[in-house]
Amino acid sequence: MKRFLNQYRWCVVVSTLLVFSACAEAQDVVLEATGATPVAAPAIWANVRPPSEVLTELQALHASDKETFIEQSEIDCFIREGGGGPCASCAGIIVLQTCRGMLGMQKVANPHRAFIESVRDQKVLLNGRVTNRQLARVFENYESYLGGATVSVDVLSAPNSPHAVDDNVWGDDRPLLIKAIPDSIQILSFTWTQGDGEVLGRHFVIVKNVADGEIHVVDPAAPSKPRRYILEKSSVDGCNRVFLRLPPDLPKRAETFELNTVFTVKVATKSPAFGRPVPVSQFDLISASIDQTAKRLSTEGKLRSPRDWRRETATFGLPGLDLPTDLGGSGWSAEKMLEVFRHAGRHDLNLRDVVGGAHSRVLLKSENEPIRKIVRQVAEGNAYMAITITEPDFGTDFTSIQTRSEHVDGGHVLSGHKRYNARLDQATHVIVFAKSASGTPRRLSVFVLPIDAPGVTIERFGAHGLIGNSYGGLRLDKVFIPESHRIGGDDDGYKIFNEHFTYWRLMQTAAAIGTAERALEMMADRMRTREVYGKPIGRFTHLQQPLGQHATELKMAHALAVEAARLLDQGRYKEAEPLVCGLKAEGIEIALKAVDAAARAFGGEGYSDRVDVGDRLRDLNGLRIADGTTDAMRSAVVMHTYGKEFWDMAFGREEVNSGKKPDGPAKTTSPSADF
Ligand SMILES: Cc1cc2nc3c(=O)[nH]c(=O)nc-3n(C[C@H](O)[C@H](O)[C@H](O)COP(=O)(O)OP(=O)(O)OC[C@H]3O[C@@H](n4cnc5c(N)ncnc54)[C@H](O)[C@@H]3O)c2cc1C
Repeated sequence: MKRFLNQYRWCVVVSTLLVFSACAEAQDVVLEATGATPVAAPAIWANVRPPSEVLTELQALHASDKETFIEQSEIDCFIREGGGGPCASCAGIIVLQTCRGMLGMQKVANPHRAFIESVRDQKVLLNGRVTNRQLARVFENYESYLGGATVSVDVLSAPNSPHAVDDNVWGDDRPLLIKAIPDSIQILSFTWTQGDGEVLGRHFVIVKNVADGEIHVVDPAAPSKPRRYILEKSSVDGCNRVFLRLPPDLPKRAETFELNTVFTVKVATKSPAFGRPVPVSQFDLISASIDQTAKRLSTEGKLRSPRDWRRETATFGLPGLDLPTDLGGSGWSAEKMLEVFRHAGRHDLNLRDVVGGAHSRVLLKSENEPIRKIVRQVAEGNAYMAITITEPDFGTDFTSIQTRSEHVDGGHVLSGHKRYNARLDQATHVIVFAKSASGTPRRLSVFVLPIDAPGVTIERFGAHGLIGNSYGGLRLDKVFIPESHRIGGDDDGYKIFNEHFTYWRLMQTAAAIGTAERALEMMADRMRTREVYGKPIGRFTHLQQPLGQHATELKMAHALAVEAARLLDQGRYKEAEPLVCGLKAEGIEIALKAVDAAARAFGGEGYSDRVDVGDRLRDLNGLRIADGTTDAMRSAVVMHTYGKEFWDMAFGREEVNSGKKPDGPAKTTSPSADF
């Protein structure tokens, strides 16, 4: 500090202000102009969105919903009379929402609750005048909303600031640097002095970006309004001081805003390997949040409850990850989703049902507002979708289903019987595939209805798995469905099925790969620790060999799955289809064999509920049938790869029905082919 004062022995010229910008000569105060676009994140930060971009979006969102930030005036009444305002707490909320946006997470739905939590932690916040340490603690405490990421707060004060602690003041050693930083948010605190000299207190604003020598900020007093300042250094009272001034094109104000502190909030994850913070990728955050949720729900006995998962994980965006951003989702690519499903599968295969919008993605084919509302509810964790295609007499041959839909005034009437359907007891809504309302043979129509719609009865039976979800059927007795609730046109059902299940089967395979990869890790641990005849069973080559074989097969399946996901992300569904059918078949079979090997290595322990390898085996057996059986998927691969005549040879209807060779190509449909 002494050195700082020596260097700037400026005379007392209150009115002489120097404007600093990127070309400023002084070393200690740098306002780095970055142009309208934020500084590009270095490759290492490629997964973290720049705070400037996030703040711009959040401001727009707040302008329409008023639920993104907390406006200072809303909570003024909570602050002790005679104290300052709640701007520090409101700045905390802006930082919280920005951190989440940078990490690809949805905004916190109830910022007011987050404020209450921070007050619960530090009642002194209600005094309104906070210290630097108290505000830093507000930022640090919001870490619990960041799904495993950490925040670190750096505080740099003006040498003359009464708030400075530990000599953390700007000067030669620590230049004051205000700029857009890809992984960090800067918060400026300034002392607000009235024109008549009365000091009102401190105010806090969040730096959005720096452009053309101007600092653009988000102000807790009016968070959706644009605010900008220029930085000026002045020799006042013999001391180098920094002020925020309004740019010359804005009306002059009598108050002065003297910069007293810059907080820099940096987001990172802890790397156990190196013991120091490393950048967070969006996937790291989501997977860490899944791990934490799994741990918590496990202790509560709710690990396999899809509704609990969906409700709880909406805070970090899990149910909306693969839903569009305008419907409250995050719009993640198939390639990224693949890794999330794989990670969830490591915990339990039943978590294949808690990641992303799942079957609600079928609804994305509708532009109708009531349907979009349902998707929003899914993204918020409040709705859950069952899907009913299979019937007592038709499964793989689903274009033969008998459920009927008829046009009536204002909508449709559905009648029929579905069976072997999962999730009906837990779901809020159900998608129903029916014969086309147009009457065209083998064409299908798709509808969505509330699970408790009049005329709907749920049939229940037990299952060898599907823990947490139900298994049963649905009777539809003249159920009326408004026109708005038909998805796509009358004959679009088959196309909708194909597109949806190409994505869904791929993600289910990814979950199965994760389930098996974890089982192999458990197997390796067991081989290290279990001794027979005085030595670890890991010495047996007949246990080592399958470990090597299955690990590689799973990696091969994963590599192919990534290839298929990339095709989906490019919109090349047709090319992806044979890969996905093959993966749904072989991926699940590979996973089954791997888990079977793991179960054997566990001996009697593997058959007990002390370990979950037996559950993994059982659940993979279910997935071998659900969403298209292994056999049917293999038949589809043959058809796609070698020609439809193979499908027709096996399943040509005329041949089957009459026992005669058909004259022309048989008109049949595969579980994945196009009409
Ligand atoms: C855990 C689980 C969850 C499920 N969830 C749902 C759900 O939510 N919604 C829903 O609608 N359905 C669901 N199902 C039903 C599932 O989709 C069907 O069971 C499956 O598609 C097979 O149909 P199926 O049972 O009628 O068998 P069938 O089609 O009668 O098949 C019988 C046998 O013939 C073989 N086969 C049939 N056609 C072919 C072919 N073309 N090529 C080769 N072999 C063939 C099959 O592989 C099978 O071995 C679920 C099933 C399970 C086990």
